[in-house]
This record gives sequence, C-alpha cells and structure tokens, in this order.
Amino acid sequence: MINKTAAVVGGGIGGLAAAVALHRTGWDVTVLERADRVTELGAGLSLWPNALRALDLLGVREQVVTAGAVERCGGVRDRRGRWLSRTRSAELERRFGHPLLVVHRVDLVEILLAALPAGALRAGVQVGAVPQADLVVAADGLRSVLRERLFPGYAPRYAGHTAWRVVTRPTAPPAEGAVVWGRGARFGYTTMTGGRVYCFATANTPEGATGPDGEYAELHRRFGDWPDPIPALLAATAPEHVLRHDLYDLPPLPSFVSGNTVLLGDAAHAMTPSLGQGACQALEDAVTLTACLADAPRIADALTRYDLLRRPRTQAITRRSARLGRAGQLSWPPATAARDLAARLIPERVTLRAMTPVLGWGMRPETIV
Ligand SMILES: Cc1cc2nc3c(=O)[nH]c(=O)nc-3n(C[C@H](O)[C@H](O)[C@H](O)COP(=O)(O)OP(=O)(O)OC[C@H]3O[C@@H](n4cnc5c(N)ncnc54)[C@H](O)[C@@H]3O)c2cc1C
Repeated sequence: MINKTAAVVGGGIGGLAAAVALHRTGWDVTVLERADRVTELGAGLSLWPNALRALDLLGVREQVVTAGAVERCGGVRDRRGRWLSRTRSAELERRFGHPLLVVHRVDLVEILLAALPAGALRAGVQVGAVPQADLVVAADGLRSVLRERLFPGYAPRYAGHTAWRVVTRPTAPPAEGAVVWGRGARFGYTTMTGGRVYCFATANTPEGATGPDGEYAELHRRFGDWPDPIPALLAATAPEHVLRHDLYDLPPLPSFVSGNTVLLGDAAHAMTPSLGQGACQALEDAVTLTACLADAPRIADALTRYDLLRRPRTQAITRRSARLGRAGQLSWPPATAARDLAARLIPERVTLRAMTPVLGWGMRPETIV
C-alpha cells in the first residue's frame, strides 16, 4: 500500500481523523477543505469510550485526554431539577475502560492537524467533483456534495427540533453535568477544562425558524426559568457566542462506497446528537477504513469490507439516536410524565448495559475490522 494516494474531501473531525489514520499507514494524503482555515465551531464535544479507543488507535488519545475534562458524574433531571438517573464515570470506566471526555472541538481539530505532515491540508478548496486519487474519502459532512453526486435522492431529514450550543464561563462551574428534560425542550451542561462549561439546548421548532430578537434572547426566553444552574450559566454567556443549528439525520444509504470513493462521518451517516455519537462514529470509521485497507489485497475489497462493517452499525446508531431524540422532545404532559417515571425506575447498570453495543466498539478486535 506504500505510496498510494488518497484525497480526503472535508477537513472536519472525520476527514482529519481519516487523513491521520491513512498517513500513519503509509498513504500519501491530501485533505481538501473549502474553508480558508480549518475551524471547528466553538462548542464542546462528548467523546465516549468507543471514541477514546479509536483515538488511541490513531495515536492521539493522550493529547486529547490532556486537552479534555472527564465528566465525573452526569445524568438526567426533570424540569423541576430532580434527578431521574445518574451515571458515574468510575462505573463507565470500569465497564468500558475509558470515561466520558468532554473536549473543545477546536482542541480536537488542532491535535488531529498536528498529526499530519506539513502541506497535507489544502484549505480554501471547494470540491465539486470526485478528485483524482487511488482512494477518495468523502468526509464533506451533512450536505456532502460527493454523496449527492454518487447517491442522489438521500437528502437530510429535519428532526423537528433545533439546537443551541454555547461555551460559557460561570463564576462557579457545576460539580456534575446533567441534561434537564422539559416538555418539547432539553437543556444540558457539562464542565470542560479551564472553568468553562459547555451548554446545549434543544426545542421543537419549525425548520429554519430563528429567534426574532437574536438567539441569546431566545435562549433566555425559553430556558431562563429552568432549574439551577441554568439561569447562572445563561447569565455568564456572551450573546455573540450562541450557536444555533437545526438538527437532521440521513436516511439509510444503500452503500457507503462507489468505485474508489468511500463515504465517512456525517457524509455517510449524519445522526441527531442525542447519543453524542456523530463524531465518535466518524473516528471509528477512520480507524476501520485504514484497518480494512491494511488487510485487503485490493482497495475494492477493503472498501467492500468497510461498507459491510460500518453501514449496519452506524445506521442502527442513527435510528437509536433518533428514538432517544423523540423521547427527549416529547411535549404532551402525560407522555413526559411517563418518560420521566421510566427514567427514574431504570437502574444505572441497566442503562450502561444497554449502551454496550455502542460503547463497546473496539474492545474486541473483530468489531474494528
Ligand atoms: C448540536 C450538535 C451536538 C453534537 N454533539 C456531539 C457530541 O457531543 N459528540 C459527538 O460525537 N458528536 C456530536 N455531534 C455530531 C458531530 O458534530 C458530527 O458528527 C461531526 O462533527 C461530523 O464530522 P464530519 O467531519 O463528518 O463532518 P463536518 O464536521 O461537517 O466536516 C465536514 C467538512 O467538510 C468541509 N466541506 C464541505 N463541503 C466541502 C466541499 N465541497 N469541498 C471541500 N470541503 C468541504 C466543511 O467545510 C467541513 O469542514 C453533534 C452535532 C450537533 C449538531
């Protein structure tokens, strides 16, 4: 495989991870990114044990762990602030070998970039057609141009809710993270390094709606009277730092491969963020792709194997994330009461056991390749 060329379209987390993995196994890699500078939006990112295992195989786990913060304890609270369920990091780590890590996206991107040779990234290049290379990795995100060309008719589906994200610096960061479930709305917060707190909120809204007097005012209007520490977190937020994005997922594609082009990350399987798995799955994709290429005599065989391994898994996780999102966004009071009761009754060990198919990736080598 030495000296084969790979063109990676898209320099997000998925594309950069794929480039790092390919570079480490002897490929000559170029990343084509339309933005002038590779900048990840200013928000936090949850990296679950499966992602930390992938980062380990990419050779950058230690740097990412140093840049991130372990969520010691997190859980779900109801609209009045009462705990419905809690998960301790120690228990997560005991079962899966790694904790839940929260990093700033920019830090992860910078670590991946630093693992690439100088000149591997070509920024400011908007790709419109499949580039020439032995292997093309389409990692151009939710609105992938390459996917649209190779698999027309699989447009992203609006999930029915929007998301706000912000990184804030309150005077007293909360000791534990949580997601508060309301009616047709959720608000989550988790502590990052340097006293920063990553907050994310969702609400059922028509597609494309915006806050009439700005997204900061909209967040205050919707969540200003939610339980502590939410009002204090909002008060410490800089209005210009609020990000808002409508949430989408992709319908299941019939293949992640067309000729020598392989889809990876959101381009292949964009999912709603309720499980916090989109980027984690992109990291898994990158590791599996390279392992398949190292194993198979021909690129075509490797891509067939990649498709076989990655498509069923990521499409199942996409469905699961959508189900969780629908439960989280319930708004009819009897339904939210039943949901909250169920969450209160399910023990931590049952919740963690149910997460094994997702978080246990890579614990056995045959789940990777
Ligand atoms: C609100 C929210 C919260 C989330 N939270 C989490 C979480 O906690 N944990 C988690 O694991 N995941 C989370 N995700 C999902 C995660 O952000 C994505 O799955 C992940 O960023 C996808 O990475 P990617 O590289 O595949 O795509 P992207 O990050 O979209 O990167 C695609 C790149 O391709 C470039 N590009 C696009 N078109 C072209 C073109 N034609 N030519 C050249 N370049 C192009 C873009 O500029 C971009 O840099 C969340 C998502 C959202 C919306």
